[in-house]
Amino acid sequence: MQFNVSGLLKGPIGDIREYDIEERVASLQHLTEDTNLVAPISGHVQLMRTRSGILVTATLHTRVETVCSRCLEPAFHDLDITVEEEFFPTVEVYTGAAIHWQEYTDDEAVLISAQHILDMTEVVRQDLIVSLPMQPLCSPTCQGLCPRCGANLNEGPHFCEVEEIDPRWAALAQFKLEE
Ligand SMILES: [Zn+2]
Ligand SMILES: [Zn+2]
Repeated sequence: MQFNVSGLLKGPIGDIREYDIEERVASLQHLTEDTNLVAPISGHVQLMRTRSGILVTATLHTRVETVCSRCLEPAFHDLDITVEEEFFPTVEVYTGAAIHWQEYTDDEAVLISAQHILDMTEVVRQDLIVSLPMQPLCSPTCQGLCPRCGANLNEGPHFCEVEEIDPRWAALAQFKLEE
């Protein structure tokens, strides 16, 4: 997800470049502790020259494998994100003179390198993470785990063998003890 934008930086404000991408980005494969990308990142990227930088507008798709919040088995989710972020050059494209980019942003993820490479990776990583489901499920009807023995209730009829004390009997037992 890197683009050489030297040509665009030399062009007029409003100039546009469009790209269709399909990329496996090694540094994004392991997205969080329990979430991995299982498809390339694909979609459409538009770069537009602005007064002070390059506006990136992208619609991207990928698929992740994560952990079901009910049964702890793998859960797969499609992720669709929209990226809209302005990137800023760090050097003048013609002279190579340093630009005081801190005037424009305090986020180093949106800086264009001195070689005029615009790298979307970090911005995409942040957008993917915030679009992850809060409580992923392996299926909308996941039955979860038996609260008594931990058996996976999706694996068919379950007759729990762990003895359960009826709360009424427990109260009675307590009463007898106090007597
Ligand atoms: Zn599940
Ligand atoms: Zn059980």
